Amino acid sequence: MAPPVILFDRIPDEGLQQELVLDEAWVSEVFAETSLATVPGVPGSASIRLDKDKRNVFLSGRFEVTAQTDCVACLERVTLGLGADLVLHLEPAAGAKAKPTHEEVELSRDELDVDVYTDDRIDLAHWLREAILLEAPLHPRHEVCPVKLEMPAAPPSARVAIDPRLAPLARFIKKE
Ligand SMILES: [Zn+2]
Repeated sequence: MAPPVILFDRIPDEGLQQELVLDEAWVSEVFAETSLATVPGVPGSASIRLDKDKRNVFLSGRFEVTAQTDCVACLERVTLGLGADLVLHLEPAAGAKAKPTHEEVELSRDELDVDVYTDDRIDLAHWLREAILLEAPLHPRHEVCPVKLEMPAAPPSARVAIDPRLAPLARFIKKE
């Protein structure tokens, strides 16, 4: 189930606090175009606060999700905790027609700071999705890759044992 849409009129004057479970099915959808996968049995969470000032909405809070993927350095599975604070100033779309759409623009944290909501709907799934994708690492890796206990497989030629009695010959060849 996706995080809810909050209607502007449902935000009380004193603000609205939402504690959300980000279930695996929804987080999997968010991860669909990344190399990330959810960790079974480990849902994410978000704590979101909405405050209003006239028709503007101030969205603040934090999310935490756990992801797994392959480490780019050692190719072993790596589990990543993704989390970030959200701070957004939302204006009603009608008052922001001059704003360029950001469909094709690469989002940065700064550009996320002010945005618009449309039809009195504060779509938490939309903002959480963008915030989570911003935290998705391009090159996921362990902080410290696990040390492999096995030696890497040697090429077949290196596995042929050299008779120690022939070692002097090897030195002789090098001198040539
Ligand atoms: Zn690694």
